[in-house]
Amino acid sequence: MRMIDLIEKKKQGLCLSDDEITWMIDGYVAGDIPDYQMSAFLMAVCFNGLDENETTTLTKAMMMSGDVIDLSAIDGLKADKHSTGGVGDKTSLVLTPMVAATGVPVAKMSGRGLGHTGGTLDKLESIPGFNIYLTTDQFIEQVKDIHLAIIGQTAELVPADRKLYALRDVTATVDSIPLIASSIMSKKLAAGSDAIVLDVKYGNGAFMTTIDDARVLAGEMIRIGESLGRKVEAVISAMGQPLGRAVGNILEVKEAVNALRGDGPDDLMDLCLSAGAELLVMTERCHDTKEARALLIEMIDSGKALEAFRQMVIRQGGDVRYIDNPDLFDTAKEVIAVKAEKDGIIADLHARDLGLASMMLGGGRRVKDDVIDPTVGLILTKKIGDSVCAGDTLVEVHTNTGLSDEVKHLILGACTLGGDGRSMPVIEEIVKGDE
Ligand code: URA
Repeated sequence: MRMIDLIEKKKQGLCLSDDEITWMIDGYVAGDIPDYQMSAFLMAVCFNGLDENETTTLTKAMMMSGDVIDLSAIDGLKADKHSTGGVGDKTSLVLTPMVAATGVPVAKMSGRGLGHTGGTLDKLESIPGFNIYLTTDQFIEQVKDIHLAIIGQTAELVPADRKLYALRDVTATVDSIPLIASSIMSKKLAAGSDAIVLDVKYGNGAFMTTIDDARVLAGEMIRIGESLGRKVEAVISAMGQPLGRAVGNILEVKEAVNALRGDGPDDLMDLCLSAGAELLVMTERCHDTKEARALLIEMIDSGKALEAFRQMVIRQGGDVRYIDNPDLFDTAKEVIAVKAEKDGIIADLHARDLGLASMMLGGGRRVKDDVIDPTVGLILTKKIGDSVCAGDTLVEVHTNTGLSDEVKHLILGACTLGGDGRSMPVIEEIVKGDE
């Protein structure tokens, strides 16, 4: 086979065979196919797409490019959760212990934040001592013992995606639904869980800006997962404003701990209960989502969800005193209030711009190798639908570098007045596969 022929085929909108796709991925990972040819192929995919069979075959070939984790040593159906990324998204820190506390094993591999979006690993690493680098054996043992582990993706997991994603990032070929679906699902499938809930976000702070694209992506990922024998469902959730009130690593961990203590913001809790309930039904822990929601609420009220999180922190080397007393966390040098300039009702809290503001304070990465400052970020004192008077604080800026005019204008521009008092519901819909 010759790569140039496969590029030509895709350029003409023709379909590749299973053998051709597998040959291409194997050859790319082995270094036999150069980046410039793969870039041309990816661009052809951006214009001409992949059909269902091509997308499934691509996902499978990527998944098989490295280790596929075998979780069979852990009893029962194993659960996993994935978010397509957003601003203030600390859902994994709250949802996974809620689910684990019910006895369902949760084996999760997470990622880091980039650009305006945050990442679960960065949040966990802001807990002093927390180790996200477990071996696969340690990961499995921990889930067996305490039902919960969250770690970074190992280097051997889906090397094809590592290489392809880096290439897509610099060749304007990220925003193709079949490429995103195969990238995410190859990693989720290789990580080995039986039941996966996908939080597919849409809005200005998300990868998918429109709900229609979010639906298509969700449907495609569910189809791929099911065709490879997993249970997959998706929650389509709004990312027009940040989730909860905290944006920034330590600030978000504190908000997550409060949520586990029963004092979480409504949108975050709604998302955790909805996605968590789907997982409890998929793993056959509960008969229906009504029973599952009640059980998850009981896990919060009884303190069992918080205890599951504490146990994970202890087991992964974190200093649990910070969870028991979040006031111990380091804080930024200054908290500066950005105030409303006139009266009104919040119509929009542009998630992307608020995420960028947090990144510019040092809370996020512009490029992959940036070092982040875990103490900085934003606290939103108002959410969409809230009334404000001139002079009220809109956003608290936690900063070690003051507040530049640029960041201040970004924040003020993100907070638009003129709303009608309606809040923004976080859950748009739940998408299920063919049952
Ligand atoms: N997240 C991924 O893991 N892959 C993509 O292609 C996009 C988002």
